[in-house]
Amino acid sequence: NKQVLLKYYVTGFPKESDMQLITATTKLKLPEGSMGVLVKNLYLSCDPYTRFRMTKPEPGAGYVDSFKPGSPIGGYGVAKVLESGDPKFKPGDFIWGMTGWEEYSVITATESLFKIQHTDVPLSYYTGILGMPGITAYAGFYEVCNPKKGETVFVSAASGAVGQLVGQFAKLLGCYVVGSAGSKEKVDLLNNKLGFDNAFNYKEEPDLDAALKRPVDIYFPEGIDIYFENVGGKMLDAVLQNMRVNGRIAVCGMISQYTLDQREGCHNLIYLVSKQVRMQGFTVLSYYHLYGKFLEMVLPAIKEGKITYVEDVVEGLESAPAALVGLFAGRNVGKQVVAVSRE
Ligand code: NDP
Repeated sequence: NKQVLLKYYVTGFPKESDMQLITATTKLKLPEGSMGVLVKNLYLSCDPYTRFRMTKPEPGAGYVDSFKPGSPIGGYGVAKVLESGDPKFKPGDFIWGMTGWEEYSVITATESLFKIQHTDVPLSYYTGILGMPGITAYAGFYEVCNPKKGETVFVSAASGAVGQLVGQFAKLLGCYVVGSAGSKEKVDLLNNKLGFDNAFNYKEEPDLDAALKRPVDIYFPEGIDIYFENVGGKMLDAVLQNMRVNGRIAVCGMISQYTLDQREGCHNLIYLVSKQVRMQGFTVLSYYHLYGKFLEMVLPAIKEGKITYVEDVVEGLESAPAALVGLFAGRNVGKQVVAVSRE
C-alpha cells in the first residue's frame, strides 16, 4: 500500500520534501466486526485547506484537525468500496468523502461518506464540481452572497476549483462577472471557456485598486456588489475600496495568507462602514444539508452544457506532493486532482 506521509509540521511555504512516499508492507484489512469500509482510492483532491492540516494545531484559526507527523495525508477523494461493515455501502459502490493519500484506506468515519449515485459523469468530478468545492461555491454564492440578477460580481482565484463555479453560477443568474487569476492561460480560460464577462491577471497589475476601477474594457467603474473572496491580502484591500453600498463579501478563503508565518494586516476595513457592506466568512461544513438540492441543480446543468468544469489531473500517488505544493504557486489550471487509479 503506497502512502504519502507528512514528515513533520510545516511552517511557511509547503515543499514536496515535507512529504514522503513510502510503501507500507502490512496488508490492509477491515478489522473483524468493523462498521467501516475498505476502499481503493481512485481520485484524490488537492485543496488549499490541507496546508492548515500540515501545521502545528492553532486553536481557533483552522476548522479541521492537523495531521500527525508520520501519518498519511488525508483529504477528500473518490474511492471504490472493496469490503464493507456498514450496511449503507456494498463492495463495488463508488463513494466520495474523507479518505487517505494512499492506494487503499480503511475508513471508519463512514457517516461523512457520500455514496455516488450518478456515474454518467466523470468520477473525478466528485473531488470538484460535484464534491466539496462545488457545494462550497453553491452555498457561498447563493446562501452567503444573497445575489440578485444584474448585480456586479468579482471573484478572485477565479479559474480554480471553487472560483470557476462561482462565476458560472453568477452568469446563470444574470450578473456581470469579472474574475482575477494569475496567468494569461487562466485569464483566457475565464474569458473564452468559462463565460466570465471579463478577467485580468492580477500579477500584471501594479495597482489593483486602479485596475478594479478602470472604466474602459474592464471592470467595475461603478463598483462591486458582490466579492467572492478566495485570496485575501492586497486583493481584499483593493476590493474594499471598490464596494458599492449594501455590497456583500463572502469570505471563502484567503490563500495568500496560508503560507505566511506572519499574516498581513488589512487596511481598508473602514469602507465597510460607509458602504454598509456585509462581510461574512463561512465554511462548507455548515452546508452539506444542501447537497441534494445542489445536485438537482448542477447535474442537469452539466449534462445540458450550461456549466463546464476545468480539471488539472496528474497521474499517480507519487505526483500528489508536487500537485499540492503547486496550489500555492498557482500551478494548477482548474481543479487539481490526483488520479491514483482509474479502476
Ligand atoms: P484553487 O483551485 O483556486 O487553487 C488555488 C489557487 O489560488 C491557485 O491556483 C492560485 O491561482 C491562487 N493563489 C495561490 N497563492 C496565491 C496568492 N498568494 N495570492 C493570490 N492567489 C493565490 O483552490 P480552491 O478553489 O480549492 O480554493 C479557493 C479558495 O477557497 C481557497 O482560499 C480555499 O481555502 C477556499 N475554500 C474554502 C472552503 C470553505 O469551506 N470556506 C472550502 C473550499 C475552499 P492564481 O494563479 O489565480 O493565483
